[in-house]
Order: sequence, then C-alpha cells, then structure tokens
Amino acid sequence: MSNESSMRRVTAIRNGTVIDHIPAGGALRVLDLLGLRDGASVPVSLVMNVPSKKLGSKDIIKVEDRELTGDELARLALVAASASVAIIRAYTVAEKREISLGDEVVNVVRCTFSNCITQHPREPLPHRLRVVDRAEVHLRCHYCGRPQDLDALVKNVI
Ligand SMILES: [Zn+2]
Repeated sequence: MSNESSMRRVTAIRNGTVIDHIPAGGALRVLDLLGLRDGASVPVSLVMNVPSKKLGSKDIIKVEDRELTGDELARLALVAASASVAIIRAYTVAEKREISLGDEVVNVVRCTFSNCITQHPREPLPHRLRVVDRAEVHLRCHYCGRPQDLDALVKNVI
C-alpha cells in the first residue's frame, strides 16, 4: 500500500498534526503521553492496524488544531521512535518533524520508583533515564538504576 493511500484512510484535516508509523497497538500509549486521551480539548482521530510496508501494521493519530511541540516529540520518541510527524496547515503538509531517541531522556518523565532520590522534594535533580536498548525501548533510571515500565512511565510525564 502506498503512503498516499494509507494517509487517505484518515480524513484530511485543515490544521493540526498527523502522527504516522506508530507501531501497531501503540496509539493509546501515545495519546496518554500527549495528554490527549482524557480531557483533550481538540478533536483526535485514531486509525489502528493499518497495513504498512515498513512496520507490517501501524497506527495513525490525527490531532486537529494543535501542532506538537519539541517537548511532545521527545515524549513521543519513548513509545514510537519510528513515527513520522507531519504538521498540517491549510490542508497541506507544512513541516515534517523528526523524532529520535538519544542515549538519555532528560526531564521528560520521572522515574517510576517512589523511593528514588529524584522523588525527594528537597533534592531537585534533573530526571535522567538511560536508554539501555533503543529498539525495545528499555530505560533505566540514572540514579537508582531501576528498569522502567513503559506503561507506568507514561503516567509520569513531567
Ligand atoms: Zn530512579
């Protein structure tokens, strides 16, 4: 299936953001991370399990009247590093934004362990998680060394 025909599955939007190439099943995590699942103030459309040459199958999210910020792209990298992001203005792709997962994720999410030093209110430290495995997205806290569960992490967005 061509990129064009898969994009047509999502009704054209006038202004906003299209997040394509999300690994199938990952769309709900993306919505959680971006705060679009509960109490979203803009229309959000979701298409799941679309056939994809690159991924086998994929999810697509369309957010109207909102352009993702750099901070939001950093969050997105945690759960969908393969995603491609297009900013839509006046029904056309105005910008494509790159996302990437580096060696460390700083001040994006908090360590999920309640006794970690980063939870101590008198010790304001940057929230640093090391990327141990980029493909599988395994993260460990820089301070306590504990592995992070992605489903728990998405609730710890800073
Ligand atoms: Zn920790």
